[in-house]
Amino acid sequence: MANMQMTKTPMPEQEPNVRNANFKEVALGYTLEQAMNEAQRCIHCKNPACVSGCPVGIPIPDFLAKVAEGDIAAAYEILSNANALPAISGRVCPQENQCEGKCVRGVKGEPVSIGRVERFVADWAAEHGIANVATAPKNGHKVAVIGSGPAGLTCAGELARKGYEVSVFEAFHTPGGVLSYGIPEFRLPKAIVKREVANLEKMGVDIELNMVIGKVLTITELFEMGYEAVFIGSGAGLPMFMKIPGESLVGVYSANEYLTRINLMKAYKEDAATPILHNKKVAVVGGGNVAMDAARCAKRLGAEVHIVYRRSEAELPARAEEVHHAKEEGIIFDLLTNPISIEGDEKNHVQSITCVKMELGEPDASGRRRPVVIEGSEFKTEVDAVIMALGTQANKMSYSGTPGLEETRKGCVAADETGATSVPGIFAGGDAATGAATVILAMGAGKSAAKSIDEYIQSKK
Ligand SMILES: Cc1cc2nc3c(=O)[nH]c(=O)nc-3n(C[C@H](O)[C@H](O)[C@H](O)COP(=O)(O)OP(=O)(O)OC[C@H]3O[C@@H](n4cnc5c(N)ncnc54)[C@H](O)[C@@H]3O)c2cc1C
Repeated sequence: MANMQMTKTPMPEQEPNVRNANFKEVALGYTLEQAMNEAQRCIHCKNPACVSGCPVGIPIPDFLAKVAEGDIAAAYEILSNANALPAISGRVCPQENQCEGKCVRGVKGEPVSIGRVERFVADWAAEHGIANVATAPKNGHKVAVIGSGPAGLTCAGELARKGYEVSVFEAFHTPGGVLSYGIPEFRLPKAIVKREVANLEKMGVDIELNMVIGKVLTITELFEMGYEAVFIGSGAGLPMFMKIPGESLVGVYSANEYLTRINLMKAYKEDAATPILHNKKVAVVGGGNVAMDAARCAKRLGAEVHIVYRRSEAELPARAEEVHHAKEEGIIFDLLTNPISIEGDEKNHVQSITCVKMELGEPDASGRRRPVVIEGSEFKTEVDAVIMALGTQANKMSYSGTPGLEETRKGCVAADETGATSVPGIFAGGDAATGAATVILAMGAGKSAAKSIDEYIQSKK
């Protein structure tokens, strides 16, 4: 008999006024009892819509059934066979738009908290020294993967399981892509990313760091080295700016640079090689998840932080949970506000930002109401840093100029849903093919491409 409790089993969190001054994880995770209670809310539908809502096809009711019985090792076996990075997706996947968005328990109450249970199972397995690293015997075929974000890591893991010799080429000195350099420690502890990467290494995946493909080696050279297929998972890390006066002043950052300094270079530590970003008052321009992450980091480094967003709260693209957490932590939302210039002092350091107030007009092509400037509403605010979180584009360095490789109008690699590109043997997926999206979509694309790569190589025999 299912647990008919209407709401999710709450997950303990750090108090807002404590957590906004530290980088430790906000959500503390379920206990065994809480995980079992939540898993027992699944009513095991005949046609589980949650599974069709999951880009990596986790058999969700099956692993929940094992958790409900308290057999966590069996739950982990089911989960990890479908998902190479469960501790990560359990934490950062926008479940409300995927599996949980389709859960029938959500019709009259809250959906089953699949993500929280997934996270519990993955953490439990790690605490008990269990890792699903079984692979088929080596099959003698070599595949190169460009980029070690969730797309590349998933593709590499899936191929290693099938017996392929996989080398991942990563431009940075640390693997993980956005999981390492973008998503802050307080949402996704880096020890967890390291743990998941270590599991892939145990499966025989070779990770070559500081390897900028397109500069050190080209895709053509990778084929000459004996790789039979190449997967491009180089992400979309190229930041966009507003092109307003003052964007080159000292103290104006792209959100990617700001977050990289903090997450990868540990700029919050006194002994970090990168300057410590202790600002007094920071404006973060944008309203997406990346803006929330940058704002919450700046707050933790002691600043008064303003989110500057040109539409209203209803149009904020960030997950509702992220907005809620940011507000709880004391971030101030300057809505219907748009910057028009940034001013500097005599040393070219940011001193102030000038904005105009906006109102919402008729819907635009995106279906959202278009923000319109209110004449004469210009005002100036003193700030000492401005973080631009306006979105990113694909970084083309690894693939641009590869003979025959087609790109989309936005500069992404043109790839179909199987990951195939215009060049046989070259596959692509994740943000490099779609533009900025989500971790689970990148993982789904890595998984599909691994299947296509396997079929491609086996068909050549
Ligand atoms: C701050 C931030 C927060 C986010 N939060 C969430 C969230 O909570 N939930 C969610 O689902 N999604 C979130 N996203 C989006 C999500 O992280 C991305 O959609 C996802 O990481 C894309 O995965 P990927 O593997 O395609 O690319 P990436 O994660 O970008 O990885 C690409 C990798 O390729 C490497 N690379 C690039 N060029 C080269 C080259 N020439 N040679 C070698 N390597 C190269 C990069 O260094 C990087 O390591 C967030 C994004 C950001 C920026």
